[in-house]
Amino acid sequence: MSLKSHFKRIAILVWTGLFFLWPSVAVQTDAADRLSWRSIETKHTIIRYQDVDDLEAFGEQIDYSPGEGGLVKPLFSSSESKSLPEKLARKIDALFERVQEILDMRKKMKKVNINIYPDKKQLREAFERIYRKPCHIRAWYEYSYHTIFICVDDVHEGMLAHEMAHGIIDHYLKVRPPSATAEILARYVDSHLKRK
Ligand SMILES: [Zn+2]
Repeated sequence: MSLKSHFKRIAILVWTGLFFLWPSVAVQTDAADRLSWRSIETKHTIIRYQDVDDLEAFGEQIDYSPGEGGLVKPLFSSSESKSLPEKLARKIDALFERVQEILDMRKKMKKVNINIYPDKKQLREAFERIYRKPCHIRAWYEYSYHTIFICVDDVHEGMLAHEMAHGIIDHYLKVRPPSATAEILARYVDSHLKRK
C-alpha cells in the first residue's frame, strides 16, 4: 500500500469515527443518564420530560380536577403551546396541595422533580443506575435527588400522589421517619385522595 493511500484510509477512519460520535455528543445533555430532558416548572414541582407527547400522555393519565381558586404560574422552558403545560401545571399543583392537605403537612419545601420516562425500559435503567440492582417497582421517590420517577404508560393520580407523599413526609419532619411509617402514611394518601 502506498503512503498516500495509507493516509487516505486513516482520514476516512477518522472521518467516520467523528460521524458516529457526533450524535451521541449532541444528545448528551444530562451527564447522569445521557437523556435529553426538558422541563416545566410549576408552583410545587419541576416536571421533566423528553418529548412533548410524553407530557401530553402524562396529563391524560392523571385523572384529577383542580379545585377552584388555585393560583398557578407555570414558567415555560420551551415554545410549545401554553395551554397544555398550563393545564398540566394546575392539575399537578392541585394534586400536590391535596396530598399536603391529607397529610396536614403544609410546610414550604423545595420543588420536587418528577421524571417522566417514556417506557418501562428507561424507567428500569434509571433504577438500576441509582440502586445497582434490578427494578421490580412501577414508580418511586428518591430522597437524595428529591425526585419522583414514573413511567408515562403506567402512572395514575393515586400512584403520583403516593410518591408526592413520600417527598413531603421526608421533608416535613426534621428527622426522616422510618420507611415503614412513611409507607403507611403514603398509602393513606392514595386511598383518601378522592374523598373529602
Ligand atoms: Zn411508598
